[in-house]
Amino acid sequence: MADPIQLERRGLLYVLSSPSGAGKSTIARKLLAADPEISLSVSATTRPIREGETDGAHYHFVDNAEFDRMVEQGAFLEWAHVFDRRYGTLKAEVNKALDVGRDVLLDIDWQGTQQLKQVDPDIVRVFILPPSMEELERRLRGRGTDSDEVIAGRMERAAAEISHWAEYDYVLVNDDAEKCAARAKAILEAERLRRNRRTGLVDFVRGLTG
Ligand code: 5GP
Repeated sequence: MADPIQLERRGLLYVLSSPSGAGKSTIARKLLAADPEISLSVSATTRPIREGETDGAHYHFVDNAEFDRMVEQGAFLEWAHVFDRRYGTLKAEVNKALDVGRDVLLDIDWQGTQQLKQVDPDIVRVFILPPSMEELERRLRGRGTDSDEVIAGRMERAAAEISHWAEYDYVLVNDDAEKCAARAKAILEAERLRRNRRTGLVDFVRGLTG
């Protein structure tokens, strides 16, 4: 139910990071589906499009030259090399949401999170851990089509990402996607109530007390 009294507040940047295989995209999807007031920032990337992905919805898929141009034009809030490809958060994506009073969900890695924290110290950083490395490996093996070498590489990258867990404000262990998504939502709700983001409070309280 919507709050009877909607006070003006600044939109927030909600960052989700995790090693791949920890279930981050499921949590992000659930969060977006459950809450009409937060939208996903669609990043630009130079990696090839995968089956089932849509250009403009999952990523803005661009080539190296286009990515270079975007960097030159200052189009990014942050960008980084991940797995030998480049990924970046577009200022335009974030502003599009903030301008209409929405919060922004960013699915970015630890490097992007560090950069974004410099640009905007007010961001909310959430890290998702797998319940165990065995479970992570099971998820990364997926349908079993990848070689042991590929899996070993992914496990190494996962361990490298996990090593940055302590740079985050909140840490969730994803042993149950529903529970984890509910907690991610609870964090969002609580962060929305922070006094420093609620620009409408001053007038509201003035109205209360005269
Ligand atoms: P994937 O290629 O599997 O979609 O994503 C690989 C990794 O890149 C994920 O950990 C994801 O969070 C990260 N990533 C996606 N978009 C961005 C971005 O705009 N900036 C940064 N720094 N990382 C990103």
